[in-house]
Amino acid sequence: MKLGMPGMVLRSAAKKPATRRFPAEIRPAYSATRGHVAMDIAKCNFCTLCQLRCPTGAIVVNKQEKTWQIDRMRCILCTACVGACTRKCPTMETSYAPPVGERRESLVRFTQAAVPGTSPAGEAGRA
Ligand code: SF4
Ligand code: SF4
Repeated sequence: MKLGMPGMVLRSAAKKPATRRFPAEIRPAYSATRGHVAMDIAKCNFCTLCQLRCPTGAIVVNKQEKTWQIDRMRCILCTACVGACTRKCPTMETSYAPPVGERRESLVRFTQAAVPGTSPAGEAGRA
């Protein structure tokens, strides 16, 4: 049966919206969602295995300075670093990393020990 324009408008008004009202309504992530690589720097021994396995060169490990850096714009979320690390330091999180406005903000450095000019253990922020 043909509804005509008024009928179609009424039918659409009575229906649930086809899309979510983002950002008020956010779809929960799936358990396998690849959001971003997180790092537990406290467990790292700076063996550089993750750096060697990373296909895009997104990871830079510095054993002397005890730093581990990831370039989130280079990272393709392949999980190779997660699989390579025997200490389970990098993990794949389901949440997405916050957006950045400048290229250099995509470099995130983690520092294990308090080295002059750096932050103590944890995500030290943009490199
Ligand atoms: S994160 Fe794991 S694989 Fe990478 S340097 Fe640290 S201990 Fe080695
Ligand atoms: S997830 Fe893949 S691309 Fe991203 S840092 Fe790890 S190895 Fe590199």
